[in-house]
Amino acid sequence: MKIAIVGAGVVGLMTAQELSDKGHEVAVFDRNGAAGEGSTFASGGIFDASYPLPLAGTGSHLSRFLRQTRGFSSVRWTRLGDVHWIWQRARFHSDALAARREDVASKLIQSGIDINVDLIAKHQWDQEQSFGQTVLLKNEADIMAYEARLPAIRDAGLSCQTLERSEIHAIEPSLAGNDSFLKAIHFPQNWVVNCRQLVLNTKQELAKNGVNFQFNCKVTEVVPGGQPLLRTESGGSMSFDHIVLCTESLPTPTFVRLPLRAPLVTISAYALSVPIREPLNAPKSAIRDANTGITISRLGRRIRVCGGGELNMSNKLHHDKQLVSRLFKTLDQYFPGSASYAAGTQIWRGSNTHTADGLPLVGKAGVPGVWLNMAHGSNGAGMASAAARLLCEQIEAKSTHLAGEYLDPLRFSR
Ligand SMILES: Cc1cc2nc3c(=O)[nH]c(=O)nc-3n(C[C@H](O)[C@H](O)[C@H](O)COP(=O)(O)OP(=O)(O)OC[C@H]3O[C@@H](n4cnc5c(N)ncnc54)[C@H](O)[C@@H]3O)c2cc1C
Repeated sequence: MKIAIVGAGVVGLMTAQELSDKGHEVAVFDRNGAAGEGSTFASGGIFDASYPLPLAGTGSHLSRFLRQTRGFSSVRWTRLGDVHWIWQRARFHSDALAARREDVASKLIQSGIDINVDLIAKHQWDQEQSFGQTVLLKNEADIMAYEARLPAIRDAGLSCQTLERSEIHAIEPSLAGNDSFLKAIHFPQNWVVNCRQLVLNTKQELAKNGVNFQFNCKVTEVVPGGQPLLRTESGGSMSFDHIVLCTESLPTPTFVRLPLRAPLVTISAYALSVPIREPLNAPKSAIRDANTGITISRLGRRIRVCGGGELNMSNKLHHDKQLVSRLFKTLDQYFPGSASYAAGTQIWRGSNTHTADGLPLVGKAGVPGVWLNMAHGSNGAGMASAAARLLCEQIEAKSTHLAGEYLDPLRFSR
């Protein structure tokens, strides 16, 4: 079949990978000049199957939601839709299916790790990657919250090890700041990868195999139908058997009118990337401070620190200095002397789209010939590959390797 993909982020590339692998004729369109220049650009690269829906544990209470999002610097509740989102979110995360959704998300990430590890091995890519993530628990409240989640994490098939402070150095020998956490939990199966490098490797391989990449090509309209049509800003118009939208967030009605009423919000986060000065002082893999949500991951010869959050502030021009300085401080606290700031420090802000139930939109868009793979939230890199495989199976009308009903975009139909 002849299939178009709109969006060349990690989700679009992994969708192209699955479809091309099955012998389809694939074309990928992106308004940017290269792959992985959207939210994928400086992702922390942590495939965290143990904490797949970060906003999910917040339950129905507004106070708990605000506590969970305390790492956020700015919250702009400007639209009525935001109030609708927080109300819907509370409803979804306290209903009987909340645990099932978290399990589905964890399975997506675990399956994504397997798919990518196989892909890298198959092509023998020299890929920056490591296994293991250690979550630092600062106080009794963090410990209690995590211990309550451990049975579900184990049920999801993940192993984990609770560590006393004195035991952490066997896992992360250079970790300092011992006095700022009480305990830790280590997840050996969580995976860390340089996501942009993975995307660029995949793009190169796909191009060799005949996938047609159209960069600097903004898609302005999709016309649904038996042979859906795609129109570009430059006036081009092409028809396909299927069109898959991997645009991270839902398009406007002028792009394509969909019968969906999905409550979505955009949460922007920051990434600080710095070259390693002294490898012995650097992390071996990844850590997360459970209290602030800040992650530190090792990507080859660089360290990436991610965190913070701004709700619906993606159009803001200036970086939040306080938030960015918190990322620097966290790195200096946990891995002092590891970074060479003078050798080139990059500060970047990207945004993630979150649905009210936390799960992405993967499947039929509700109009003929159009499919969605988007709104993967803050664990989107981890979910991308398994969501792509699921979508490919659905397009081919095959039985699926994961249950698709929880991800079906039509769960939010009007
Ligand atoms: C700071 C930060 C840290 C993160 N850390 C992690 C992490 O550790 N682990 C993890 O799993 N996830 C992480 N994420 C989330 C993850 O990076 C995203 O969920 C993921 O990259 C989303 O991929 P995507 O392909 O959907 O979106 P994008 O990468 O944004 O790709 C969408 C593409 O669509 C294109 N596009 C949109 N509209 C059009 C159009 N009309 N015409 C043509 N092209 C169009 C855009 O140009 C863009 O390239 C992080 C995100 C941020 C911001």
